Amino acid sequence: MSDPHIPVGDAGDGSEFDFENRIVSTSYTPGDEDAEATLRPRRLEDYIGQDKVKENLKVYIEAAKLRHEPLDHVLLYGPPGLGKTTLSNIIAAELGVNLRVTSGPAIEKQGDLAALLTNLNEGDVLYIDEIHRLPRMVEEILYPAMEDFALDIIIGKGPAARSIRIDLPKFTLIGATTRAGQMTTPLRDRFGVIFKLELYTPEQLALIVKRSAGILGISISDDGAFEVASRSRGTPRIANRLLKRVRDFAQVQGKTQVDAASASYALDRLEIDELGLDNTDRRMMEAIIKFYAGGPVGLDTLAATIGEEAVTIEDVYEPYLMQLGFINRTPRGRCVTPLAYEHLGLRPPQPVHAAEQMQMNIFDDSVTSDSNGDGFNEE
Ligand code: ADP
Repeated sequence: MSDPHIPVGDAGDGSEFDFENRIVSTSYTPGDEDAEATLRPRRLEDYIGQDKVKENLKVYIEAAKLRHEPLDHVLLYGPPGLGKTTLSNIIAAELGVNLRVTSGPAIEKQGDLAALLTNLNEGDVLYIDEIHRLPRMVEEILYPAMEDFALDIIIGKGPAARSIRIDLPKFTLIGATTRAGQMTTPLRDRFGVIFKLELYTPEQLALIVKRSAGILGISISDDGAFEVASRSRGTPRIANRLLKRVRDFAQVQGKTQVDAASASYALDRLEIDELGLDNTDRRMMEAIIKFYAGGPVGLDTLAATIGEEAVTIEDVYEPYLMQLGFINRTPRGRCVTPLAYEHLGLRPPQPVHAAEQMQMNIFDDSVTSDSNGDGFNEE
């Protein structure tokens, strides 16, 4: 089973995977809270990247304002840390209305959602994060609320039960999800506007880093910002977090400005390589190589091998590894690509040459069919 290319002491050696506390985690972590509030762009013009989304959104917001109508319901989907919450804040600000924030798992009962909806003002934006995790029963009362701005409530039980309809203020629902595929079709179909947020390019992230550095009073050179950006896995949340760590190292080194060399030094110390991969990514790819000969391996099997939940692998680790072309999703499972072998300093398995393959096939045939070895295939 063991692969001679794998350095001893990697995945499978009993060491623990600590996915949650990674510095390159895309999830919101406790250290982010003050920075996230101050670093969030407040207007559309400050929101960097996602140009197509911004252009269309500008038109929809303008049109809604001209018609004095609420904006159509908006669904935002994409990996964590790409700016879904930020964008919903911006939409409310651009519309000049209030934003109410909640999340799918926080709404347990129909009454919770009813209370939220009846407390909205005309035109307000209700933001539901992780909308794919709304309980089914709750989702059902959301349908008429989204479509007709009404709540259908059943009063009483048994034969005496009757339904009453309560009118709601016209509002805009913004749903955010990392997994649009897990939403039910009736819910997805009720969103008039659906935007997919893409991972950011290093150039866009460098602008975000420069902007954040300006707000936090950190002096950083252009190449320093680019160094941080190119190791941030296409994710603004990570870029902002790395910027703060890089500043710490520069300060301790007595530098007044973060430049490419000091950023690179700090990120090397944090064991984040030049593509933004950390030990966890490398171990995951090495596990596929070591235990499954590079794949394909089913998602659940891989998850069990590295002790991580399948959804986390799918939502958090894979998007970036796939963008880099290091991992492929095939119908039979996940495969590591030759590019990943190269990045890990390993030799990819040599593809079998077509002519060799043919020879092997001929040989196989002669073994199986030419059972008495007389050079003829017996029928
Ligand atoms: P999500 O809701 O998708 O998990 P957030 O909206 O909370 O992500 O974004 C995380 C952080 O990244 C925010 O604090 C914000 O400062 C920063 N950010 C996200 N998108 C952008 C952007 N387009 N421009 C500038 N900063 C951004």
